[in-house]
Amino acid sequence: MDNVIDVLRDKGHKITPQRRAVINALLDCDQFPTALQLLEYVKKSQPDVSLDTVYRNLSLLKELGMVNEIQTGNQDGNRFEILTNGHHHHHVICLKCGKVQCLHFCPISTAEIEQVESNGFSIVSHSLEFYGYCQECQKNNK
Ligand SMILES: [Zn+2]
Ligand SMILES: [Zn+2]
Ligand SMILES: [Zn+2]
Repeated sequence: MDNVIDVLRDKGHKITPQRRAVINALLDCDQFPTALQLLEYVKKSQPDVSLDTVYRNLSLLKELGMVNEIQTGNQDGNRFEILTNGHHHHHVICLKCGKVQCLHFCPISTAEIEQVESNGFSIVSHSLEFYGYCQECQKNNK
């Protein structure tokens, strides 16, 4: 928490009570909340907060590399994850129940990045998610 707040301050962003509440919600919510779940949580301490404010804070934190937006392809919408240590990683996502798991390695090698850069781009980041069915959903399908 302090870590995230410090980074925001260092970059010259104001720490409003609503912003602080959004960060708290990210830290306190069950893993991988949706924007709506975050809104519900933030409303407990900041009843006037709007979904728009939640999204604006999420996109700021995303730009600063402190939040991961996980594209779920699920009707509940994308899920968010706070990266307290800024650690780069990827996810596996269940197409049926929307369950998300972190993959604690990056399957993209430097050689592959260099290959991508051979078309003239200077690559600064990438995102990659794996989609499929979790063990439980596989069982239930049988
Ligand atoms: Zn599943
Ligand atoms: Zn993760
Ligand atoms: Zn990676």
